[in-house]
Amino acid sequence: MSQISPLPPSWPLIRVVKVLYGDHPKLPSISVYFQGCDAAPKCLDCHNPETWEFSNDFSVDFNYLESKVLEKLDILLTRYPQVSLALLGGEPLSMHNRTFAYKLAKRVKERYQDKVVTILYTWRLPKDLLNIGISLGYFDEFVMGKYMHKYAKQGFPASKNQIYMSNEQLTDTLTILSTALATCEKKEERLWINL
Ligand code: SF4
Repeated sequence: MSQISPLPPSWPLIRVVKVLYGDHPKLPSISVYFQGCDAAPKCLDCHNPETWEFSNDFSVDFNYLESKVLEKLDILLTRYPQVSLALLGGEPLSMHNRTFAYKLAKRVKERYQDKVVTILYTWRLPKDLLNIGISLGYFDEFVMGKYMHKYAKQGFPASKNQIYMSNEQLTDTLTILSTALATCEKKEERLWINL
């Protein structure tokens, strides 16, 4: 049955898993399209509106998903020395799906290390990742920000406003953001005390 709001996260919601060229700028990928997008409002001219709805119709046993992804990565790695696992959607970091995105990336990085580059697509920006509640350490690369048709371009990422960062760059950015926020909070406290 279709649902409007996110469901209790018992299993991941998966639209499709496929082999693709283009979801990573350099590598062929196994692309996992999560079902359900919590962007509000949605991106104008979203290319995947069929992935918006959180619906139990797309519920998949995580162990089954993991085994299928590993199987496909094993096959792809027989042809290429390095490949990618792309996590996209929909929104892999929606409340419903984020733990499964994390678990899948963790399993893949522990098994393949640098032979598989994990790339995560999210409409969220770095500031939205400060308190996301999962470790981001198993995602090697990030494409962040909403797709905006007016900034669409040929190539990667799909629109100019989107931010493509390595894990190291994002970690540095989050450190700077945390420090800046802490400083602001302190100033507000001083201001309040002064008042
Ligand atoms: S975040 Fe992705 S799925 Fe959601 S509206 Fe934007 S482009 Fe579409």
